[in-house]
Amino acid sequence: MPTSLMIVIGLAFFLYGIIIGSFLNVLIYRIPKKENIAIKRSHCMKCEYQLQWYDLIPLFSWLFLRGKCRKCGQKISVQYPIIEALNGIFWLLIFIRFGLSIESLLYCFLFSALLALSVIDFRTFEIPIGFNIFILILGLVRVATDYKNWLYYVIGLVSVSMVLFLIFFISKGRAIGGGDVKLMAATGLLLGWDYNLLGFVFGCILGSVIHIIRMKVSKKDHVLAMGPYLSAGVMISIFVGKYLISWYAALLGSH
Ligand SMILES: [Zn+2]
Repeated sequence: MPTSLMIVIGLAFFLYGIIIGSFLNVLIYRIPKKENIAIKRSHCMKCEYQLQWYDLIPLFSWLFLRGKCRKCGQKISVQYPIIEALNGIFWLLIFIRFGLSIESLLYCFLFSALLALSVIDFRTFEIPIGFNIFILILGLVRVATDYKNWLYYVIGLVSVSMVLFLIFFISKGRAIGGGDVKLMAATGLLLGWDYNLLGFVFGCILGSVIHIIRMKVSKKDHVLAMGPYLSAGVMISIFVGKYLISWYAALLGSH
């Protein structure tokens, strides 16, 4: 692909990424409150000023208004532009890594779902079922486009999640949340068993290290929301898993 075309498509990925990112903000805000995500128009939390189209341009409106409501000057959370920028940047990175492919599109939507569910899980300790269903559907698309390897994905669906379900069942949901079990089932169908297993291991390492640091720093007992860590683990696996898996396979082969 010529470089100029790469740049144009890359820019398109980034722009669509920030637009979807601004939709993620709506989901993050409204799903935990059980508000309708489609009907109600966006408004200022303080003065109820209804945002106009020019207030709703992802990233740029916030920067232009310097994070304040146009009417009453109420501060608008920096979380909005951060989510938008993160989503745009990762969509671009995924395009750079996987090119113009079905894989790229699936991973872009996966990243967006993981980002939103992570923020919600971090705040509410719950992963809304809709996100897991969405990721499962992405997984079904993956299997449909690579149906010769269906078994590889189906093993992904059950391998990590079965073990987690047992832990969930034995601990009566105290050791791990039901949402985490479903998440690892859905990502397993999308990634295949080896990448999913690797993502799970990364997630556990990240989760325990950061959790211990947080408890040390704040000297308080934190409830651990696993969603953000599992999500980060899955994304790390998508980006670097290929190298680790082939390295491991070569290691096994040399014996
Ligand atoms: Zn206002």
